[in-house]
Amino acid sequence: MNQFQYVRPTKPQAAIDAVAKDANARFIAGGTNLVDLMKRGVMTPQKLVDINRLDFRKIEREGNTLRIGALALNSTVANDRQVRERHPLLALALNAGASPQLRNMATVGGNMLQRTRCAYFYDITMPCNKRQPGSGCGALEGINRMHAIFGFSDKCIAVHPSDMSVALVALDATVQVSGPKGNRSIPFADFHRLPGDTPEKDTNLEPGELITAVDLPDSPFTKHVHYQKVRERASYAFALLSVAAALDIDNGTIRAARLAMGGVAHKPWRLTAAEQALVGKPATEATFQQAAAVAMQGAKAFKYNEYKLRLGPNAIVQALKTAAAV
Ligand SMILES: Cc1cc2nc3c(=O)[nH]c(=O)nc-3n(C[C@H](O)[C@H](O)[C@H](O)COP(=O)(O)OP(=O)(O)OC[C@H]3O[C@@H](n4cnc5c(N)ncnc54)[C@H](O)[C@@H]3O)c2cc1C
Repeated sequence: MNQFQYVRPTKPQAAIDAVAKDANARFIAGGTNLVDLMKRGVMTPQKLVDINRLDFRKIEREGNTLRIGALALNSTVANDRQVRERHPLLALALNAGASPQLRNMATVGGNMLQRTRCAYFYDITMPCNKRQPGSGCGALEGINRMHAIFGFSDKCIAVHPSDMSVALVALDATVQVSGPKGNRSIPFADFHRLPGDTPEKDTNLEPGELITAVDLPDSPFTKHVHYQKVRERASYAFALLSVAAALDIDNGTIRAARLAMGGVAHKPWRLTAAEQALVGKPATEATFQQAAAVAMQGAKAFKYNEYKLRLGPNAIVQALKTAAAV
C-alpha cells in the first residue's frame, strides 16, 4: 500500500475543505471498500479524511420524513425500529448485503459510494476505463457474466453492487450533501449515473461534496414488500441480480407499486414503466408476468450474461408474488 496522510476532522466544513482542496484526498468512513481498493492499488489516495468524528449517525423523524445520517451503520439502520416499521424494504435489502461483521462497519454513505466489483476494475494489470480512463474495457470481450444488461456504453459495462441502494431508489429517497458551494439535495434516482464516455464517474457528486444524510418520505409500502437477491451462495456474496418490490394492495387490487433492480446496470435500476403496468391491476401472477415483460424491454446481453435475460423476469415475478403474499 502507498503511504498516505491521515486526518480526523471534527467539523464537516474542515472535512469538506480537506477534500475539496486536494484532488488526491478521499473521505473514509467504515473503510470496508476503500481500504480493500488501496491494498490492491486500484485507488491510491495520498490523504484520507476520516469522517467518523462527524455527527452524522442519527436516525430521526422530521415531519413526514425519516432522516438517516450518512454515518449510521448498515446494521444499525437495518435494526432500527422506525426503519423496520415504516420502510421494511430497506431493512430487507441491507440484511441481504455482505455479512454481519461488514454491516457493523459499513456506513450508509460508504455503501452508496462503494465501487463496482467488476474483476477488470479490481485487476490493475487489465484495461479498465473506470480505473484508468482511455485504457479500454476488458469486460466487453472478456468474462462478463456479472455485467450490465441495461444502460451500458462501449466504454463500460460494469454494474453497481449495492443492495441498499436498490431499495433506496425504489423508495424515492433523497440524498443530502454538503460541499464547497453549500448544501443541496439530490433525488436518489439522479445520484448514481450511467457510464457514457466517462465511466470513471460513478455519481453526480461534485469534488469535495460530503453525503450528510439520506431522507425517506413516508409511503404506503409498509407491508407488501420483498427484496429478492439471486447470488452464487446463500450469504456473503454480491447479487448476480436483485429486485426490490413494494406494493400497496387494496382488496386484491394494486393501488401503487415500486420496483427496482440491482446487478443489471451502472446504477440502481428503477423500473417505472413496469410500476405503471401494475397499478390498477389485480395482484395476480398474470399481472406480475406482464409487468416483468415491460421491465425487461430494452435489455441486451453480452457473451456470458445472457442468463440475466431469463433470470430478470423470473426474479421480478418471484419478488412481486412474495411481496403480495406477505
Ligand atoms: C467481502 C465483502 C462482501 C460484500 N458484500 C456486499 C453485498 O452483498 N452487498 C452490498 O451492498 N455490499 C457488499 N459489500 C460492500 C460493503 O457494503 C461496502 O464495502 C460498504 O457499504 C462501504 O461502506 P464504508 O462505510 O465501509 O465505506 P468506505 O470504504 O469508508 O468508503 C467507500 C467510498 O465512499 C466514500 N464515502 C464514504 N462516506 C462518505 C460520505 N459520507 N460522503 C462522501 N463520500 C463518502 C469514500 O471516500 C469511499 O470512496 C461487501 C464488502 C465486502 C468486503
